[in-house]
Amino acid sequence: MTRPFEVAIIGAGMSGLFLAHHLKEAGITYQIFERRDGVGGTWHDNTYPGLHVDVATRRYEFPFARSNKWSKRYAPGSEIRGYFESFAKTDGLLPNIRFSEEVTEARWTDGRWVLSTSKGNRVEAAVVVAATGFLRVPRRPAIPGAESFAGPSFHSSEWNHDVDLRGKRIGIIGTGSSGIQIVSELGRANHDVTHFIRTPQWMQVRANPRVNLAEKVLLKVPALRRYWDWRTARNRIETEGPETWRLEPGPERDRMTQRFHDELRKAVQDPGLLAKLTPTEPPGCKRIPKTPDYYTVVQRPNVTPVFGGIDRIEPNGIVSADGVLHELDVIVYATGFDTHAYMRPMKVVGPDDATIDELWRDGVYSYRGVGVPSLPNFFLLCGPFAPVNSLSIPTTLEHEVGFLLRVFDEIKKTGAGLAPTVAATEQFRAEIGKVLPNTTYSLCDNWYRDQAGTAIIWPFVAQRHLDQYAEVNLGAEFELFPISGETARTTSTGS
Ligand code: NAP
Repeated sequence: MTRPFEVAIIGAGMSGLFLAHHLKEAGITYQIFERRDGVGGTWHDNTYPGLHVDVATRRYEFPFARSNKWSKRYAPGSEIRGYFESFAKTDGLLPNIRFSEEVTEARWTDGRWVLSTSKGNRVEAAVVVAATGFLRVPRRPAIPGAESFAGPSFHSSEWNHDVDLRGKRIGIIGTGSSGIQIVSELGRANHDVTHFIRTPQWMQVRANPRVNLAEKVLLKVPALRRYWDWRTARNRIETEGPETWRLEPGPERDRMTQRFHDELRKAVQDPGLLAKLTPTEPPGCKRIPKTPDYYTVVQRPNVTPVFGGIDRIEPNGIVSADGVLHELDVIVYATGFDTHAYMRPMKVVGPDDATIDELWRDGVYSYRGVGVPSLPNFFLLCGPFAPVNSLSIPTTLEHEVGFLLRVFDEIKKTGAGLAPTVAATEQFRAEIGKVLPNTTYSLCDNWYRDQAGTAIIWPFVAQRHLDQYAEVNLGAEFELFPISGETARTTSTGS
């Protein structure tokens, strides 16, 4: 008897909803498991003051659910979250989402995945897709004395809205996109802010204008909308540089580096502050925050930048590396995420008891961002080597989901489990390994890197991301795990 083809999606964030929409359109049965009580993933978790998307919001929309309701060019986080909530509702996805139910284990059992959940349920699926993202598990560094702090402290993605910030001395640790947005917002609102800057970052100073009525009307007309998107893409190249500057050394990279220096010098005239705010790392190594006014805000009298590392935390504040105690009432850790956790701590146990922890023991990797050898019918969206810095997320998902639908067809046709071969995966990694050292991502410590110091990121131009899926010969690059046999046996799919 043929067993039903069902897809279990882990996560109702941007990727999970994107895939669910396409499965629904294709008439494929699916369920989404979501540990939170709502959709939106990282946009559900993050509610910190000043949160907004830092790519033009138009590039953040699903291509099949255009909106003309954004209030600003870079929309506030609450609007992004509202967009996903409204999409899930109008697209009819909500009945298929199991909220507040975390998948704790996926185990390959007799050719099916059996999922165990936090509610004690066991659910079978033919295919599992981990759409968990990589900005999910907060990272709070182990700073000596942290637990002794007398006031409230929390991570940027776990903002404690019960804490009244009025009249409080607020310490913010971290200069990534989160830290920059929080400091800008609280500093602008005249709060007493101390910003702990271990490593100064390059930033792009970009205004965030309101979307005016004329623009909203224009976006309703398809031809004008296409023109607008073309113009936005062209402006983007002008302001952010051609995509190649990050990928290889040369005049484009030199020109962009000069531009970053010029922007900083224009914004900060005090030579002492300018020297301290000037990064020693090359631009583009870390992800570059965009800000309308951080450089202005950091020069306000109510904002104190503290440079260098942190020595320890005491009950009444933070002691910086130079031994000075900065007295504080609240500490915010804008210290980033465990970006290589992906679906973990969920356990994944494949045929022959292969586990994801064991497969990724020396560092995370994937086949073309979506698969892992030895794990048939188990896929990821925006997995290791995703183009997180070179393509918009919806475009990445369009490419990845298009490919997965092709793989799902093959799974249905063969009635078997499919996993990328070790050889195809190694070849993919070798191609990436060859060019990575030339990219800016390899020039400093950043969250793309694994424990061996290798950046797990897409190092090619955007077009190649689409092309790579078109060129796949499933028969050559995937192996087949027959489902009827007692033990998984690998053969070619023959397609
Ligand atoms: P992040 O970029 O990883 O930055 C973490 C910051 O914490 C760094 O400045 C790091 O300093 C600092 N830090 C960590 N441990 C520290 C310690 N022990 N002492 C002092 N400083 C310490 O994290 P994030 O700002 O949350 O951003 C993560 C990613 O989320 C971004 O790159 C972006 O992709 C995404 N994001 C997007 C948006 C958006 O609008 N679309 C907004 C926010 C975040 P070092 O540099 O010295 O390590």
